[in-house]
Formats: sequence, structure tokens, C-alpha cells
Amino acid sequence: MPLAPAAVCSFPNCLRLAVGRGTRCAEHKALREAERAAAIKETHKAYNAKRPASDKFYWTNTWKRKSESFREAHPLCMECESIGLVVPSTMVDHIIPYRERPDLGLVDSNLRALCWQCHNRIGKKVRDCGVAERVEPPKLGRF
Ligand SMILES: [Zn+2]
Ligand SMILES: [Zn+2]
Repeated sequence: MPLAPAAVCSFPNCLRLAVGRGTRCAEHKALREAERAAAIKETHKAYNAKRPASDKFYWTNTWKRKSESFREAHPLCMECESIGLVVPSTMVDHIIPYRERPDLGLVDSNLRALCWQCHNRIGKKVRDCGVAERVEPPKLGRF
């Protein structure tokens, strides 16, 4: 079987033969790969810049210790408890988001122990409205 004719590099005005099964010569293939790597790096940088500074706080030992001791003191989800449900708390939430009041990050009165469901519900509300306000309790079924 005759070999397919080698393609010419697709880079504008480059007349060298493409390497392998690619569409570019070795030099322009390397160039494209470098451009891709740079683009990926930029994307990561943009993503990291968008991450709120509060992310870092949640990874500190100070916060981990604080949330552990707070949950020991409040083993039940405080939102569920307020409507008469007994649900173990799984995480500690800031009533005023940490990114707004980092100074209240470790203050008990700004903390509440929540279950995942309540946290997701409240978190959604905060994202939708931009404020951390109390949201309606979940609709209860008939007992
Ligand atoms: Zn080329
Ligand atoms: Zn709950």
C-alpha cells in the first residue's frame, strides 16, 4: 500500500512537512503545545484567583479545632432543632459569611451547627440573594 503523501505543516507560510500523524512540523507542533500549556496555566490561575480567600481559612487547624469543639457543644443541627427535628450536625457554618466578617470567624455567636441539608439550603439562599438571612424551614410532611 502506498504511503499517504506527507502533509505540509498547517502553520501559515510554513512549508515544512508535518511530523508523525500531526498537521504541523516539529517546530510548530512544539509551539502549539507550549501555547496549550500556557493556556491551561492561565485557566488554573484565573480559577484560583476566583476562589474566595475564605477557602484558606477552612483548612486551618484553628478552624478545624474550633468547629470540632463547637459541634461537641452542639451535636444537633440547630436549624432542624428549631423546628423540632433531631438531626445530627455534620458541619459548622458562619451566620455572617466568613468572607464578609473574617473577624467573626471564630466567634461562637456567629457560628451554627448544621446538617448537610440545612447547610446546602442556606448556602443556596446566600448565593441567590447575596445575604445570609434565615430561610424557611423545609416543608414538613404530615405525621
Ligand atoms: Zn511549521
Ligand atoms: Zn438541619
